[in-house]
Amino acid sequence: MKSDIRVCANWETAHDRPVYTLGDSCPDCDGPTANSAPAPFSPEDPYGEYRRRARRRRDSE
Ligand SMILES: [Zn+2]
Repeated sequence: MKSDIRVCANWETAHDRPVYTLGDSCPDCDGPTANSAPAPFSPEDPYGEYRRRARRRRDSE
């Protein structure tokens, strides 16, 4: 599946949630964007968000 929607490549570290855009740079942090096709929130990976939350929680402890 092809998509023109892009997502901030550094959203996991720069933002609390994915920042989507149609441009080549993030509107929030001006960083690079990646095609969102390999989606951070893939329907095939329903627990990805939980894994990321768990990891972030560990990192902050
Ligand atoms: Zn960003």
